[in-house]
Amino acid sequence: MTRKQFTILGGGILIACALLIPTMPADDIADRAHKIHFSSIVVDTHDDTPQRMFFEHFDLAHRDSEGNIDIPRMRDGGLNAIFFSIWTPVNITGPAATKRAMDLISVVRDQVQKHPQDLALCTTAAEVRAAHDQGKIALLMGIEGGHMINNDLAVLRQFAKLGARYMTLTHTADLDWAGSSGDDAKHIGLSPFGKTVVLEMNKLGMMVDISHVSDKTFYDALAASKAPMIASHSSCRAICDAPRNMTDDMIKALAAKGGVIQINYHVGFLSQAYRDASAKSAEQKARIAAVDKAAGENEAASIREGEKVTHQMMSEGKLPEVDWQAIVDHIDHAVKLVGADHVGLGSDFDGAVMPRGMEDCSKLPKLTEALLRRGYSEDDIRKILGGNTLRVMEAVERVSHELQASPK
Ligand SMILES: [Zn+2]
Repeated sequence: MTRKQFTILGGGILIACALLIPTMPADDIADRAHKIHFSSIVVDTHDDTPQRMFFEHFDLAHRDSEGNIDIPRMRDGGLNAIFFSIWTPVNITGPAATKRAMDLISVVRDQVQKHPQDLALCTTAAEVRAAHDQGKIALLMGIEGGHMINNDLAVLRQFAKLGARYMTLTHTADLDWAGSSGDDAKHIGLSPFGKTVVLEMNKLGMMVDISHVSDKTFYDALAASKAPMIASHSSCRAICDAPRNMTDDMIKALAAKGGVIQINYHVGFLSQAYRDASAKSAEQKARIAAVDKAAGENEAASIREGEKVTHQMMSEGKLPEVDWQAIVDHIDHAVKLVGADHVGLGSDFDGAVMPRGMEDCSKLPKLTEALLRRGYSEDDIRKILGGNTLRVMEAVERVSHELQASPK
């Protein structure tokens, strides 16, 4: 073979490869991923959009250029069921916290009334499946922080009656009855009243959510609960050492009792490099403090503008960029630890700083494609996308029926 022949042949092969690569296996996987994603029930267990509805009268039907969630983008991203977080900052306490929670529940319910063609308020797994069959997005609610019950089981029962189907035991501060990961005293667990709260939630059919709690509270709640629990928006501490994330031992213990860790997309929980740089950045602290001051009581503005500051500092090279694939790394870590039956999605959309490439819920199909490319089976992907969360809901409902049938 002459040098010229070799070149022609080589060139031909190169052209053939260039023509083949984009159209062969890669597109096949993309097509399969699209089919799997849009035929699954995709459930997200934690979204803070109610702050936008409450403070800014945000209408979910409006496709917004800001924020992470609205109906058009949920349709684009194949997001079929969403737990809206009923969250009140921990500096609001007592009856004022309960009142704010009621106001937030009210604005979520208003959205369902306003958009009955698109939305259905759901409280059971069966209702979520029925909404999906009708082409509607299932709206669910979770109470984020036990301070909102104001030490009163009657308030908890009221929240359940209004449709809340989980409660995160604490937010960022210790309560009289439960320790938080956000406070210094990490040894504080559940008090006897805290255990009563957990049992009452079991009876009411509310999932016990251990995101935000101290490690001791996690183990105490796990021992007390008669039903599987969730970590509605937590990631893996083995990858990113944040007290809000779960250790491998905690993930194993949660899974052993049938529970699910729903991975949080917040950059500060995904990436150790970002976390370390952020802890040292006086500029970020100052800029976010200024944003918070300008936002005043408007939590939605504070979250959104804070995210902009962080993204801007990333693009200026002052903080490390975090790529959306980090979400898949956390999913993969948890799956390798406990199997695909115990992992789900809990984005923290509209409540955190999203990684590059996961700017809003329309980007969710990328997760399915990434999992497929990493060799996940179709069944396992469907479970992670939402099947596992629905299974926990069903288990919690069963325990609730049993406890109500034979109260002790
Ligand atoms: Zn949270």
